[in-house]
Amino acid sequence: MSNIKNCSKCGKMFNYIAGDVICENCKKAIEDKFQEVKKYIDDNPGAGLKQISEACDVATKQLKKWILEERLMFTENSPIQITCENCGARIQTGRLCAKCKATVTNELNKTVKQRQDALAAELAKQQAKQQADKKSGMKFLKT
Ligand SMILES: [Zn+2]
Ligand SMILES: [Zn+2]
Repeated sequence: MSNIKNCSKCGKMFNYIAGDVICENCKKAIEDKFQEVKKYIDDNPGAGLKQISEACDVATKQLKKWILEERLMFTENSPIQITCENCGARIQTGRLCAKCKATVTNELNKTVKQRQDALAAELAKQQAKQQADKKSGMKFLKT
């Protein structure tokens, strides 16, 4: 089934697949803009968000989105301060520092493992019960 939506940027109807509700044309325009911004930051490592936003004609909201997506990196001398959401350490991009990211991944893996173990135990219990039912059923038929 096709999923037709209106592009959130230009309003054009397009075949929506996944992710942001943006048509191919707008997606490409944003990608071009991203390359322009990246180059601008390379050329102007001391530029702040507002300066980049004005120089490249791109919303600061979009810049922040790229930072969260870990697409834009900033050097130590950049006035753009990104801090880890968990411990407040200075980071170059994204939401968390490498240390907190590793902790979060570990926690996540632990939860998944616990869930898998619980599921396996439940399955084993069910199988044992089925076996028991089968046996008692056979006994019932014999008598
Ligand atoms: Zn569009
Ligand atoms: Zn951290």
